[in-house]
Amino acid sequence: MEDTTALTADVLVVGFGKGGKTAAHVLTDAGQRVVLVERSANMYGGTCPNVGCVPTKMLVHFAGTRRAADDAQGFFARSTAEVRALTAAFRAGNFDSLDGKDTATVITGTAVFLDPRTIAVGEGEDRITVTAPTILINTGSEPVVPAIPGLAASPHLVTSTDLITTSNLPERLVVLGGGYLGLEFADIYRRFGTHVTILEATDRLLPREDDDIAASVTEILTGDGVHIITGAHVTEVRDDGAVSTIVYEQDGRTSTVEASALLPATGRRAVTAGLRLDAAGVRTAANGAIEVDEHLRTSQPHIYALGDVNGGEQFTYISLDDARIVLDQLIGEGTRATTDRRAVPHTLFITPPLATVGLTERQARAEGLAITVSREKVADIVAMPRAYTVEETRGVMKFIVDADTDLVLGAALLSIDAQEVINTVALAMRHDITATELRDSIYTHPSTTEAFNEVFDKVVA
Ligand SMILES: Cc1cc2nc3c(=O)[nH]c(=O)nc-3n(C[C@H](O)[C@H](O)[C@H](O)COP(=O)(O)OP(=O)(O)OC[C@H]3O[C@@H](n4cnc5c(N)ncnc54)[C@H](O)[C@@H]3O)c2cc1C
Repeated sequence: MEDTTALTADVLVVGFGKGGKTAAHVLTDAGQRVVLVERSANMYGGTCPNVGCVPTKMLVHFAGTRRAADDAQGFFARSTAEVRALTAAFRAGNFDSLDGKDTATVITGTAVFLDPRTIAVGEGEDRITVTAPTILINTGSEPVVPAIPGLAASPHLVTSTDLITTSNLPERLVVLGGGYLGLEFADIYRRFGTHVTILEATDRLLPREDDDIAASVTEILTGDGVHIITGAHVTEVRDDGAVSTIVYEQDGRTSTVEASALLPATGRRAVTAGLRLDAAGVRTAANGAIEVDEHLRTSQPHIYALGDVNGGEQFTYISLDDARIVLDQLIGEGTRATTDRRAVPHTLFITPPLATVGLTERQARAEGLAITVSREKVADIVAMPRAYTVEETRGVMKFIVDADTDLVLGAALLSIDAQEVINTVALAMRHDITATELRDSIYTHPSTTEAFNEVFDKVVA
């Protein structure tokens, strides 16, 4: 006979991601009783601190400090040990800070919906049910393995999590897909000493970016020794020995490349398959993502979906902003919406990073806007000696400015510190600060923001 513990809460959160935990903290602080269910004891805090942003950016840092004389394997093993120590500390901090609160409970186990207000965790005498009038689903996303013959069964198939947690530096890494994740891993492992090949199906990397920016990224990665093959359609993965052989077609010719590790980086899909959303009456789109309105309400008005699981942009800060929107619905004015987001920046953490915001030149021209384009290579920006002081002068800065209003419409910064500088540009865009004001402002010295003093005057189109 089943022996179930039945809990009730004001709010139930399914998944310990950025949005869910942020909402859980605010709601408990507001006096509500919150139960949060997380399926893995290795994932308190979610993807970002455990297997996403934090470990990858720490690896970017370590890869950049490797000296030619360092033993590649030993250096990598020491680096990943440091990464494990940091992620373990973050994980424990995430658990303790929430579970330690009087009105919050963290349950470890996989949540499955029984009905629109109840989930179950575990089975038999360990089974716990939780019933709540408000439910937040924050179950994140998982990598998609493309349907290429031989790929799923390959012993050399790795996930991003495998690469971050292993102590063994792969000798030959092949990355399938030249998107954000693929390029970051290619850059990191190349600089640790791995031989890296990117196989990209389209005719160039970063199809969303302008040609000149994509070309600069390609030049930098290639210069660092990453082998980039575009227009490559992978047809088969063969495993006959210590390595995988990846067969691909390019311009009608069949070629192969060998890999001791094979990373598909062709996208991530929402984690909804095991949730029994049908029992909750929550609708999903064809790709599995939960359908939400601009206030992140699902087809059940008392159930919200936050973060990667709702099919929006897959970034930690989007999940955080999702939490703001949901909290505004639950205990605020109810005015925030996904549609009010403006100038959301992005960073690709290669070396140097590429940070972008707003429109590309191509998009602005396609919209028929009257624009001026300012662009300058980092090495040529006299007002920005910082690039020389840290010996990283590669890259380019580009701004798209409205010719009539002088407002910044977009920027692509391939530069040292771009991940910081882009936030200033985005803030300026949100608050209608003009290009001239950005150009003429006072900035610290030597800093990367100082580039604004010069680059806006380098009008190229
Ligand atoms: C390698 C990598 C690098 C990245 N780098 C960056 C970066 O630099 N910057 C950035 O902004 N974004 C980055 N991202 C993306 C970012 O990590 C995600 O967008 C973000 O973490 C998503 O958060 P979330 O709130 O949607 O949920 P997640 O943080 O994914 O959390 C979902 C949680 O739900 C749990 N769960 C799933 N199903 C159930 C269930 N049935 N019951 C209970 N629990 C369940 C999961 O175990 C997980 O812990 C990166 C992602 C990866 C993979």
